[in-house]
Amino acid sequence: MTDGNSPQHQDLRLLYFAERCPDCTVEIGDEHDYNDEDGGCDVARCLVTGLQRLMCGLDHDCGRDVWTGWPPGHLDCERLGWMFGPGLPDLARLYTEATWDAEQQLWMPPA
Ligand SMILES: [Zn+2]
Ligand SMILES: [Zn+2]
Repeated sequence: MTDGNSPQHQDLRLLYFAERCPDCTVEIGDEHDYNDEDGGCDVARCLVTGLQRLMCGLDHDCGRDVWTGWPPGHLDCERLGWMFGPGLPDLARLYTEATWDAEQQLWMPPA
């Protein structure tokens, strides 16, 4: 077992944490950039599907996702224990096996 609170682990986590969205540069707690022409921020998620908002072609209001300081899916993988290693979420597994819970805004593991 590795110690999850070792200094090394914390350093790796900080690499992935960002005060501002890497695409639209909003601060933590602010809504990602949105506009009708190109869809706005690349990082923002559709709050209905949990997937990338830019790629969402469904006929609904995708909502206004907020920057949390973490790339989408990162904290969900940590919560589910789906990590290749510290700071390395298994996003492919998340998007294929987990189900998006739009009410809680969380990815849920298979039943
Ligand atoms: Zn953004
Ligand atoms: Zn959508």
